[in-house]
Amino acid sequence: MTPLRLSDRYGRVATDLRVSLTDRCNLRCTYCMPAEGLAWLPKPELLTDAEVIRLVGIAVTRLGVHEVRFTGGEPVLRPGLVEIVAATAALAPRPNISLTTNGIGLDRLAGPLVAAGLDRVNVSLDTLSAERFARLTHRDRHADVLRGLAAAASSGLAPVKINTVLMRGVNDDEAPALLRYALAHGYELRFIEQMPLDPGHIWSRERMVTAEEILAALEAEFTLLPDPAERGGAPAQTWLVSGHPGPPKVGVIASVTRPFCAACDRTRLTADGQVRTCLFSQRETDLRGLLRAGAPDDEIARAWATAMFGKAAGHGIDDPAFLQPARPMSAIGG
Ligand code: SAM
Ligand code: SF4
Repeated sequence: MTPLRLSDRYGRVATDLRVSLTDRCNLRCTYCMPAEGLAWLPKPELLTDAEVIRLVGIAVTRLGVHEVRFTGGEPVLRPGLVEIVAATAALAPRPNISLTTNGIGLDRLAGPLVAAGLDRVNVSLDTLSAERFARLTHRDRHADVLRGLAAAASSGLAPVKINTVLMRGVNDDEAPALLRYALAHGYELRFIEQMPLDPGHIWSRERMVTAEEILAALEAEFTLLPDPAERGGAPAQTWLVSGHPGPPKVGVIASVTRPFCAACDRTRLTADGQVRTCLFSQRETDLRGLLRAGAPDDEIARAWATAMFGKAAGHGIDDPAFLQPARPMSAIGG
């Protein structure tokens, strides 16, 4: 029998699973969540730790997934995070395990997470100014994020990556300063083009800061050299920085202006147990319902594979008929 894989009709195979562990967050980044928060998922709708571990296990042991990234909302807010990472690390074959976090609380948790098996971390940081940070996230927690970054590095996670979203008129003057900061601390900086996943649906392509603009701003101060490493399905295009015999490198994820959908190897699981084939899907497949109805692993694996077979060729942001998904980024899992 051919083993099941998460393949689609365009020949792509998903091997990278993004798991959202909660839709809640302790920040309110304007491009992700409204200042007043959202109606959080009711607890009974959230997957329990055991359910998350079972679904991750099915993905890894039956469906060929070999990268598992925990995200959210803010995954560090999930009380069972360390146990979920440990259970994931105990799977055979053991997947690579990473975390995308705003960094708050990592000063306390980085050590236990590494001990549990966490391999890599991305910390989101959009500004070096505490005052701007407070305006951008509606919370005065800049120092906590910097402490989290430092703790991640000292706990042995390498490379520690920083995710940055630039917004016009807000922090788009900070690209070179952020790169200077990252190089000085040994962090790998990645700029992400802002995507239409904001809660207010006010994103506009004209206002978005493009990869081209980001690179021009960096090149005014740095010489960027092509990265000889193979890109594969990685969303970030990366460069070495002349004079800094890399790593760290610098990367740009140009999801909007240089989409990488043709090489996408991702599948997504929301905190309430829905499979999404893409950030921008309009459809979800309910694995929680199957799981709670007593379905065996085989049946859940088949439902996951069937969902992925229907993955769209691209995100369609440039299509005039493009519709922003109903859930904002925080509720999908970035
Ligand atoms: N709370 C964690 C964090 O901030 O890293 C994990 C979840 S967050 C949704 C994951 C990543 O998505 C962050 O790096 C964030 O900057 C990015 N993000 C959120 N909304 C976005 C948007 N509309 N466009 C591009 N990136 C976005
Ligand atoms: Fe929270 Fe991350 Fe969204 Fe910011 S980007 S509001 S930290 S989930």
